[in-house]
Order: sequence, then C-alpha cells, then structure tokens
Amino acid sequence: PKYVYDFTEGNKDLKDLLGGKGANLAEMTNLGLPVPPGFTITTEACRGFLAGGSLPGGLEEEIALHLTALERRMGRRLGQADDPLLVSVRSGAKFSMPGMMETVLNIGLNDESVRGLAKQAGGNERFAWDSYRRLIQMFGRTVQGIDGELFDGALERLKAGRSDLDLQAEDFQRLVETYKEIVRAETGEDFPADPYRQMRMAVEAVFASWNAPRAVLYRRQERIPADLGTAVNVCSMVFGNCGMDSGTGVAFTRDPGSGQQGVYGDYLQNAQGEDVVAGIRNTMPLQELEAIDKDSYDELMRIMEKLENHYRDLCDIEFTVERGKLWMLQTRVGKRTAAAAFRIAVQLVDQGLIDLDEAVTRVTGDQLAQLMFPRFDGGADRKRIGRGMNASPGAAVGRAVFSSERAVELAAAGEAVILVRRETNPDDLSGMIAAQGVLTSRGGKTSHAAVVARGMGKTCVCGAEELEVSAAERRFTAPGGVVVAEGDVISIDGSSGEVFLGEVPVVDSPVVEYFEGAPVGGDELVAAVHRIMSHADSARRLAVRANADNAEDAARARRFGAQGIGLCRTEHMFLGDRRQLVEDLVLADGDDERERALAALEPLQRADFTEIFRAMDGLPVTVRLLDPPLHEFLPDHTELAVKVALAGDRATGRDRRLLAAVKRLHEQNPMLGLRGVRLGLVVPGLFAMQVRAIAEAARAVPGARAEIMIPLVGAVQELECVREEAAGILAEAGVEAAVGTMIEVPRAALTAGQIAEAAEFFSFGTNDLTQMTWGFSRDDVEAAFFSRYLDLGVFGVSPFETLDRAGVGRLVRIAAEEGRRARPGLKLGICGEHGGDPDSIHFCHEVGLDYVSCSPFRVPVARLEAGRAAL
Ligand code: PEP
Ligand code: MG
Repeated sequence: PKYVYDFTEGNKDLKDLLGGKGANLAEMTNLGLPVPPGFTITTEACRGFLAGGSLPGGLEEEIALHLTALERRMGRRLGQADDPLLVSVRSGAKFSMPGMMETVLNIGLNDESVRGLAKQAGGNERFAWDSYRRLIQMFGRTVQGIDGELFDGALERLKAGRSDLDLQAEDFQRLVETYKEIVRAETGEDFPADPYRQMRMAVEAVFASWNAPRAVLYRRQERIPADLGTAVNVCSMVFGNCGMDSGTGVAFTRDPGSGQQGVYGDYLQNAQGEDVVAGIRNTMPLQELEAIDKDSYDELMRIMEKLENHYRDLCDIEFTVERGKLWMLQTRVGKRTAAAAFRIAVQLVDQGLIDLDEAVTRVTGDQLAQLMFPRFDGGADRKRIGRGMNASPGAAVGRAVFSSERAVELAAAGEAVILVRRETNPDDLSGMIAAQGVLTSRGGKTSHAAVVARGMGKTCVCGAEELEVSAAERRFTAPGGVVVAEGDVISIDGSSGEVFLGEVPVVDSPVVEYFEGAPVGGDELVAAVHRIMSHADSARRLAVRANADNAEDAARARRFGAQGIGLCRTEHMFLGDRRQLVEDLVLADGDDERERALAALEPLQRADFTEIFRAMDGLPVTVRLLDPPLHEFLPDHTELAVKVALAGDRATGRDRRLLAAVKRLHEQNPMLGLRGVRLGLVVPGLFAMQVRAIAEAARAVPGARAEIMIPLVGAVQELECVREEAAGILAEAGVEAAVGTMIEVPRAALTAGQIAEAAEFFSFGTNDLTQMTWGFSRDDVEAAFFSRYLDLGVFGVSPFETLDRAGVGRLVRIAAEEGRRARPGLKLGICGEHGGDPDSIHFCHEVGLDYVSCSPFRVPVARLEAGRAAL
C-alpha cells in the first residue's frame, strides 16, 4: 500500500486515510492557500504499527523519499547545520480529538543546526535557542515519556517571575543545557542529535499516542471507534516565535457559541502554536491583529471567507504569522454548540450556500436534546460572583472541586460537581467527564476546556479572570472578598458566561416551550428549530409515536408531535395503592375470589384507558397487556419473612399467605419466567379483563383507535389462544381493534412468518430482544462488565443504548421481511428504548419499519432523526 501522501496528493474526502488534519491540509494546498509544504503518513501505517509493534515494512523508505522531495523543494536538508529545514510531526485522526494525542515541533535542531537557524532568522539567537529548548521539552515529554513538570519547573525557576518575553538568548541557551541534563538523567542517554532519528522516533510516538489512556477515554466518551488509528503530518516549520512581527492564532469563521458571523479568534504575538492552548500569556482578540499587521489580517479574512464558501460551513483555523507572512496550519469544519448548529444551518440556507435538505442533515438529535435542557431562571434571586466566556451552553449546578481526582471521587459518591481550574489540560479529561460543568479563570473560547467541553456537550464557562483560583488551597476568591471553598455550591451558566454563588433554580428552555405550543416569536434559535423541524417532518417516512401510560404523558407526547402511542405499559397502572388489588389477585383462592379481584381492577383500568384515548384524540394507542412476573407486585421476600418471624404468633393471616405466595412464585430467572403472554395463558381471566376494559373505554371515547398488543410471544400458538379470546370480547363489545404482538423473543423473530398469520402488527421490543439475543441481563450487566467490554472493543457502545445491527438488527430484519411476506402491509414498529436513539432510528428507517416509539421527551429528537435518515 501507499503509506505516504504529499499535501498536493490528498483532498478533504480522504479523512479515513489521511485523518482530518491531513485531508484538510491537502485541500487547502490544492485551493492555493499558503500551507507550508509537507506530507501525511496514513492511518493505515498507524494500524500496521499498532498491530506489529514496529513501523510496517517499506514505510521508512517511503518517508525518506518524500522527505528528500521536501528537502529539494525547500532547498535545505533536515537539520542541515548551516541552514536547516525543520519539521513538525503532528497527529491527526479521522475525528478530531483535541489535545489527546502528541505533536512535536522544531524537529531537526541540534547543537549545530541551532546556529544555522539563528543565521536563517537574521541573527536572531533568542528565537533559535527558544526553538531548540522547545524541541527538547516536547520531545522529552511526548516521545521519551519524561515528566513534563521537570521541564516546566526548570523554566519557572529560570524565569523567576519574569514573563517569557523578558527571557534572552542566553537564558534559553542555559535552559537547553538544563533540559539536556534532565533528558540524560531520566533516560540514561543523550538527547538524540540526529535529525532523522528524531523524526522517526516522533512518528512512532505519535502512532503510539493513539492508545494513550486519555485518548482511549476520550474516544469512549465520544464514541469514536478504537481501531481507526491516527495519521501523522510532517510539515515544514514556520515560526510564530521569531519576534513581535510574528505570532500564532486560532480563528473561527463564525462564533461557535452563537453562530453569529464575525471575527472570532485569539492571537498571541511571538509564540508557537502550543502556547495558545497552554495559556502561557493571555491572548488578544483576533481583531487586534488588524492594527498590528494589517496585511496578514486582511489576507486571513479573505482566506476565511474562501474557506467558508468552499466548505459551506463554519470552519476553524490555526495559523501562524512568520515575520509578516501568513501561513495556514490547519482548518476543519469546526465544532459548535447545539444552538449554533441550528442557527448556522439556517443562516447558510439563507445565504444560498446549502438547501433545507442539507440543513436538516447538519444538525443532530443529540444537539436538539441539548437545546431542550432547562436553563437558569433569570427572575430568580441570584448572586453573581463572576463572569467569563460562554464557552459551552447549559445550566450547571454543583459543588466546587479543584482537581480532576476529587471531581471523579465526589461524582462517584453521587454528588454533582463543578470542576474549577485555572485552565484545564488533557489530563483533566476524567474530571471533566465526571463534572456537571467546567469553570476556568484563564483561556479563551479556543482553550482546551472550551473545546473539549463543547465537544462533550458539557456546560463550560472559561476565562473568568476576576476569579483567583488556587488548586493547592482548594478554593477560589471572587471580587468583594467572596471565597468559595471545595464543596461549596456554585451555579455556572454556559450560555451567558455567568458564575453564581449557591444554587440557582432552573426553568424550561424556550425550545421546549416551543414544542409545548408557544408561538415561534422573535427568538432566532426557536425560529431555526422550527424551520428545521418542519422540513424534517415533511421529509421523513417513519412515523413517531410515544411510550406513555398515563394521560399526562400522552398529552405531552402529542404536543411534542407524537402520532400515536406505540407502547402503553399496563403494569405501570398496577402500582401504588393498586398493589393491594394485585395482591388480592395473587392470593385468590378459587375462581370466585379471583374473579372478584379482577372485577375490582377492571373499572380502574377502564378509567385509565378512557383518559388516554381522550388525550390522544383519535390517534392510535397500542395497549400492551400485562407483562412482568406477578411477584414484582408483591412485597420483598426477605422483608416479609422478617416481618412474619418478628410478629410470631401475632402475624396476620394475610401476611402468612403473602409469604407463601412470594415463595411459591419465586423464580431463579424471572425475566425468563412466568411473564408476558405466559401469564395471560396461566391466570384465567386476567387478559380478558384487560381487553374488556380497553374495549369499553374505546367505545366510550368517540374516534378512539385501540391496538391490543401481546408481549413476549415466542410461538404463533400462544398468540392464537389469546387472540381468539380477545376477538370474542371485542366482537361482543362491538369494538374494532387490531390485535398484534411484540417481537422480543428471538424465536418470535425467527418464526415471524408464522406469527404474522395471527398478528395484525408487530412491535419490536428491542430491550428484551437485546437481552435474550446477547444473553445479557438488562437489569444487571451495565455495571458489571460493560466497561471492560467497551475497553476491549467487544462493542463500541452498549447494545441496550444503540441497536446492535449485526445481531439483534439481523433478527429485526428477518422478522420484518418474513412477516411482510406472510402478511403484506403488516404494520411494523419499535418500542424498545432504541426507538429514541439516533443511530437505531436510522436503522429502523433502513429496514422499512412504519414507526418508532420513544419516551415523550424524545419525540422531537426522533422526528428530527427520522427526517435525517430519509435525506
Ligand atoms: C422491550 O422489551 O423492548 C419492551 C419495550 O418492553 P419492556 O421494556 O417493557 O420489557
Ligand atoms: Mg419487553
């Protein structure tokens, strides 16, 4: 295979092979933008390296060929003593993983070429020695695994309170010697002087960083597959650290927080890329570059416009100015907040860059779900103690903690926490995941905290500069002498950037109010959501129903756009006060007692169904007959046994009979036991009572459309028995209702052709179908071994969350095809949790289901994803 691509050979569609950074560097090169020449080593080479533990055969030769071509083009050799070519070696995976993998700059420097570099830079010794010490520092830490604190400490001691701008050439030269000693002490060897060896080691280190713990954690969090590998970009160096006419910056073509068009970014004079993210000095707003270097600024603006028109989307950019010359180091379609995603999609439609079809595909159900989170109540009494940048929206409340470890600890104990740091770095990832929100006192919207939080959809306020954060003392102080210590509750608003003392109450989001029926009004975000949702609705083929078992949920589901109820779980109507009546049923001795118990339940059930049919006003309502094992409604065995034992002779007869019943009904595997249709066949009159209640309720509500659903069927014979009885009751009541079944036992899926003969509809119960297909108890496994399975890559996401296409999905496909073959027009739906999961919804669309059913709050998400699936 071809392992190395020159920037002139790639393009933006080769992200699988070249990673995002490499593909976009190639794209920019081909657009004629000023990109420093270089080449990309493919992800395939990385996979080969990770599998075999060494660079795959032929790779070194190929790299050497491309390097020679680069050297010829630049007119200097890598590390050439009198006039060196220097390169950066940067990671770049298919999906952006900010700061998670390694990068080494200034490769090619050693004791000789550092002097050549100074000469190149017009005798700028300071710059040359600064670059050299950066190489040893970065190389030592990332390639040789030396503790970065050792280098940082030496630098801090040298600075002794001065700014990095005050350091002179001699300071950096001395630092180089100190750094070299650190390397010798830590590795037992000298810092490698051979430029080609430096490069090879850096490439290997970048490959290996794919499996660094924080990268593994990030991928799991972001659901990025573990086996993609990273590409490596070898790029000729340009320098932002060679004087005040140089610098480095990051920019967005629009505000990634709000979507507003304008100039957004940060710039740092006389610095190299890493300095911006590390926050060594405070950056200046990008606008100020105009006053410093108008030519570079104007060119940057032109390039940003070109990129946005070319990518037809928001782009983010890294650039460097080297002595007044602008260079593009990176671009990509930028991460953005959920609100910005909706706004930008609609703005781009209005600008004529994309059409509405594409706008719908530019937003996701997850983003919509984020917009539905509550926000802080602006009218509430609240004490603001600071304000930073609105880096990632949301309303987060929790106890302040000052280290990642503490965040993880408290979160594990069930506490909501806010991680407070001066700035975050990639090692804070676990704390950021554990926290409700992240607050930093330094860094802009492009700082690590901001970028990572936005990617995770986590609330973040960054750069709240009035706050003095002391991690060592575990507290921060705010203006006015307010001190917030570890454990104190604070509230942060990622949409406004405000920080409040104590807990601020939250209110519904305007997007939820819109779904609840509020007019669109003048809110730009709500208007964008409205346009996109309307278009998604007109595009989708899948209907969306809701799982609801009371009138309130049913009414909300309808307001949210549900086109019916796909699952009404009647067992939810047997809880609370009614438990007693179920106990009576279980304890019934003989037909009379049992019939009395059922007769007591019937009017209650009838009233429940009547309310739901009313709320749904003629939309279909699928009522599922009782599913769970009866002992779920009885008291806990141990508790009851203790109670009876303690009461001794005074124990009531009822308690004794209950205890006997609990023992009698005990099952080792209740999920595989007496439940669902089996219960209906074994407890006489139970299903008949429910069917009668449904029929009478339907008769009482004009236009009601009842569908009766039998759970846990595995064989057509089971269904036939129940169906016959139900048909008789319906006929007697003069009510028409479809009778269908859930497909949630693998055997039902495999014999769907037979089952369809007796079923007017199928609804896939993918919770049980997943449980029984994998043999994973849905109530136990998640905690027990799923995290290990995720680590091992057995699956990338829990199959209870996202439908397992290869296994469970195959059963769904078989059942859908064979069911429809036996009964053309058979209605097909899904009512397991997967009905509200974006990826699973796309699967349902692909296999031709008629509808998905999910919890009422997920209905808008499902509508949007069904639209996206159809486009
Ligand atoms: C299912 O099994 O997917 C289902 C919807 O039923 P329940 O979750 O009630 O078992
Ligand atoms: Mg089920």
